[in-house]
Amino acid sequence: METKKTRVLIIGSGPAGYTAGIYSSRANLKPVIYEGPQPGGQLTQTTEIENFPGYPQGIQGPEMMEELRQQAIRFGAEVVSRAISKVDFSSRPFRCVDERGDEILADTVIISTGASAKYLGLPDEDKYMGLGVSACATCDGFFYRKKKVAVVGGGDTACEEALYLSTLAEKVYMIVRKDYLRASNVMQKRVRERENIEILFECNTLGLYGDGGVEGARLIRRKGTPEAEEFDLPIDGFFLAIGHHPNTEMFRDQIRLDAEGYIEVEAPSTRTSVEGVFAAGDCADPTYRQAVSAAGTGCRAALDAERYLMEHDEF
Ligand code: NDP
Repeated sequence: METKKTRVLIIGSGPAGYTAGIYSSRANLKPVIYEGPQPGGQLTQTTEIENFPGYPQGIQGPEMMEELRQQAIRFGAEVVSRAISKVDFSSRPFRCVDERGDEILADTVIISTGASAKYLGLPDEDKYMGLGVSACATCDGFFYRKKKVAVVGGGDTACEEALYLSTLAEKVYMIVRKDYLRASNVMQKRVRERENIEILFECNTLGLYGDGGVEGARLIRRKGTPEAEEFDLPIDGFFLAIGHHPNTEMFRDQIRLDAEGYIEVEAPSTRTSVEGVFAAGDCADPTYRQAVSAAGTGCRAALDAERYLMEHDEF
């Protein structure tokens, strides 16, 4: 077991983590960024990013994350391709242990662990995981060329996934539980204009069926009303796009979380309930959840950590 010391430990490597890395390395704090189980975060699973300032023609998600990573490294951030598996914030320096068992003693910690896709909680999702069930169209869409797929959800993510899949699959159904889409107008318009996308409003999924892989979904329309009706939808792929939950389980007993598990911060700062621990990005943001807002809080967390270290005269 090795022990490493750092002034700033950054846990997570999405736009928030890398931006915190850029700022704190430029402040000569030599941050250590633990990339976590999904280096680059959620944007590595997306295709075109059209709304991040500075890319008028858009940019591919994985490419943008690699650029952010290189920018952090350029100024001296150390990037470790492992996950932190345990933290102890009860005394300083904070003691964190990585998945290999190495110990990191950190004067400050910036948590930027992001959020992960939600599932419906049906036993069939586990049964058919990797056999037709997916929460990432860009990762798995390729397997459904000229096939029929369904996307669950009515938000921007669902529309984005449906549009992407419609370029590969023969037919895309959107399974939407309300009688309207929650997505932004521009996404709604794109979906409605795409000929091979059909929106099934007021529908919920009861289960999936198929021999060795998904062959269809059992749906119910107008659940809980006198007109409720069940029907089968033959599909080969079932994609979830119903939102995300914050990746904060590891911190549950260490810092204050809200009812949904998001890290509570003293806005507008990024201070958590433990002095010297800061949070940035989607793990502390149930509202905006955008790459650019995550990057903004990553910047703020780095400045908060720097000020904290200065006030405590530790560098
Ligand atoms: P949202 O929370 O916006 O939408 C989730 C969708 O899933 C809603 O339609 C919701 O239904 C539905 N849903 C949730 N739980 C269930 C369930 N158990 N069963 C069936 N349906 C369910 O999440 P998104 O991931 O779409 O978006 C998150 C944020 O990211 C938003 O702010 C969005 O604008 C943004 N975003 C922006 C993009 C862009 O600008 N290009 C791309 C992707 C995301 P209901 O409406 O009934 O609650």
